[in-house]
Amino acid sequence: MSISKHVSERPVPVHPAVNPASGSSTAREQSRRVKEPCETVPVVLLAVSPDDVHRYPSQSLRVIAAHTRRDALAVLDRIEPRVMVVDWDHPGIEAPVLCRQVIRGDRELVVMATMAVTEAAPLALKAGCDAILLKPFAANLAASRLGRLCREATLPAAWRTIVPRGTNRTWGEVACPACRIGGAVAFDHGSYRRSWYACLTCEHVWQGPRQE
Ligand SMILES: [Zn+2]
Repeated sequence: MSISKHVSERPVPVHPAVNPASGSSTAREQSRRVKEPCETVPVVLLAVSPDDVHRYPSQSLRVIAAHTRRDALAVLDRIEPRVMVVDWDHPGIEAPVLCRQVIRGDRELVVMATMAVTEAAPLALKAGCDAILLKPFAANLAASRLGRLCREATLPAAWRTIVPRGTNRTWGEVACPACRIGGAVAFDHGSYRRSWYACLTCEHVWQGPRQE
């Protein structure tokens, strides 16, 4: 699949104002903070492979798909989605670079990374991703995760210290088995009883008992 392909040709609803190919730096500046005129339907930007768009729900969401980093940035210049899904495995997305460009401290946009290889998780966590969804995932899991993140994206900023955003959780008492340093980040559930953990110090990834 060509990485130069622009916005998905799949029949996903795309806002008529969105045309990633025509973005200019001036328009970017002007529209940076402009929101969708109607926020009743959450907007989700799928920066994923064209082959994976169908794996995400489109009901109750306005889904916009972009398959290159350039196209994703062009979409973000024009609208502010509630959630952006970043495919860590699709080369055209250049996920680490895209996250560095998009993720800032004071933001409403919630970012979820998807990946097939857990070893990439520490990099995504360090980049500031709020959630990680491991592949392969069930459609209902993607739907529930996106619904949750869309709701959390609308919480007032003051609530973020009370209600942590995203699904990653840091556990001070969980030490890395490789470097013995505490503060492991649980980023996905391997099963009902186990979670995937990442050490942000040495970037080791492992499965351990699930913390509650
Ligand atoms: Zn470690």
